[in-house]
Amino acid sequence: MTEFLANLPLAPVPDDLTIPQFVFDHKHPLRPARGDVPFFINDATGHKVSEKEAFRRTHALANGLSRRWDVGDKDVVCIYSPNHIDYPILIWAVHRLGGVITGSNPAYTVEELIHQLKLTQTTIVFTLPPLLGIVTAACKAVGIPLERIVLLDSVSGTSHVSVDQLVEDGLKNKLNFTEKKLAPGEAKTKVAFFSLSSGTTGPPKAVAVSHFNVVSNVLQMTTHNLGAELAAGVPPEKRRFRVGDVLTGVLPFFHIYGLVMGIHQMIFTGTTVVIMPKFAWPDFLESVVRHRITSLVVVPPMIVLLTKHPLVKKYDLSHVHFCYSGAAPLSGPLIAELAKVIPNADIGQGYGMTETATAVTLTEPLLKVGSSGSAGILLPGVKMRIVKADGSLARNNEPGELFVHSPSNALRYHQNPKATAETFIDGWVRTGDEAIITDNGELFIVDRLKELIKVRGFQVAPAELEGHLLEHADVADACVVGVPDDFSGEIPFAFVTLRAPAATRAASSVNEANAIRADIYKHVADVKTKYKWLDGGIEFIDVIPKNPSGKLLRRLLRDKAKEIRAAV
Ligand code: AMP
Repeated sequence: MTEFLANLPLAPVPDDLTIPQFVFDHKHPLRPARGDVPFFINDATGHKVSEKEAFRRTHALANGLSRRWDVGDKDVVCIYSPNHIDYPILIWAVHRLGGVITGSNPAYTVEELIHQLKLTQTTIVFTLPPLLGIVTAACKAVGIPLERIVLLDSVSGTSHVSVDQLVEDGLKNKLNFTEKKLAPGEAKTKVAFFSLSSGTTGPPKAVAVSHFNVVSNVLQMTTHNLGAELAAGVPPEKRRFRVGDVLTGVLPFFHIYGLVMGIHQMIFTGTTVVIMPKFAWPDFLESVVRHRITSLVVVPPMIVLLTKHPLVKKYDLSHVHFCYSGAAPLSGPLIAELAKVIPNADIGQGYGMTETATAVTLTEPLLKVGSSGSAGILLPGVKMRIVKADGSLARNNEPGELFVHSPSNALRYHQNPKATAETFIDGWVRTGDEAIITDNGELFIVDRLKELIKVRGFQVAPAELEGHLLEHADVADACVVGVPDDFSGEIPFAFVTLRAPAATRAASSVNEANAIRADIYKHVADVKTKYKWLDGGIEFIDVIPKNPSGKLLRRLLRDKAKEIRAAV
């Protein structure tokens, strides 16, 4: 059997802690003393949240939530909001009560939010005042009482309760809740998050991520870096994570990458997270300089801007000493270019997925710039197998489908045994990614076997778009694939078979064909968030090629789409 193993072992991970207990109450040997280094800074206002304040606010909010709705194990709380200074506080308050958090993309349309609320059986929604219209429509559609919509920012003239009011109520009144305590081993099965992912096939599903998964991944990432640095005698002031570091908290907290690495890993290692609502350019650069950011955790499109945009030259980025990229491939040449822009930084990338509750590989810890384009080496506690097309296990340098075994592997797809059985197999996660592992243990993702399209690091599930396209009166059949894009990584491209009258019209003139295309494009744009729009193109095709069992021949169509794009 060929199984790839990590270089470093992982010490036993506490399995009786909720995430907030791990954050606030647990003294872990790998956790440095942070002194008075704040947990968070509000990018816009500069307001600092100390550890003590974060603890107090979490506790008060838990009390307020408990008093108002008796929030507990039965509850799923959806956060439909950009990153916000109270986002982590809310997560921890709900976890203190035993509830589950489902973070939602604030760019979602009503239809997309309805899907998430139904899928996760959400009972309470937190949002911002400008998003109230969408949330109200979605809550009405799924039967969530409107008084269960809470505002993260206080505004006058609304009947909705705000986080500030719940905190105030929680502070004023005596303790109404019993802290959620877990028996030994229970953290392994206690769900903390429902994170959306389409996995290898089909529409978005709710990945059940446990408290143990998150704690494990934080310790895996920390051990990976610190373990190697200690062994090599790297002094604290030269390490990858240093107490007093300042990170741009720009990755969306609704995605597992922002959630685990952008919040929990950083807090654990003594970093302050500057919370930014979203990635905006050039505000991002302004913020990096204003807060003397030392650490960047980003996705490849942000690196494209950093390396190619003329404005960057005007900014002194010499204080950045560390930069990680993830969620999509980052090429070696782009890393080399980035090294010129942030010359004092260690640069690396990680690979992982929602189903592995984030990273399972990271760039080798002692490597200043991981410019080979590899996704890094296995994190402590991770095992990998690469299964070749003939079903046998690959050796070094042989390509095949990657399977991952990690304490961070999520539990299942919530209430979806069929999809669970296809992806979560005897403790292993089937990734749907094609990979090789080199002689020196580096993982290279060489292709994606699964349907998934990643646009700027965001998931686009072809099945979701195909299902929607089939609802268009002119569409008889459809297949959506990703085509390469310099900035976004990939963008969606649709092959469409038209129904009879439309097909005849489309064949009659270029103008007619373009009008039908525009209508199909609008059909998607009307109800889906922007990064799912068919910006790669729409191609009419007589028949969508399928194999004898009816499976779409996606690879073939992906290659065809690339050719079509190259020809224009
Ligand atoms: P998500 O669940 O949204 O994090 O998406 C996970 C998928 O993103 C993986 O299965 C890969 O296809 C892709 N991905 C993540 N990190 C990398 C990377 N460093 N290189 C290549 N693909 C990546």
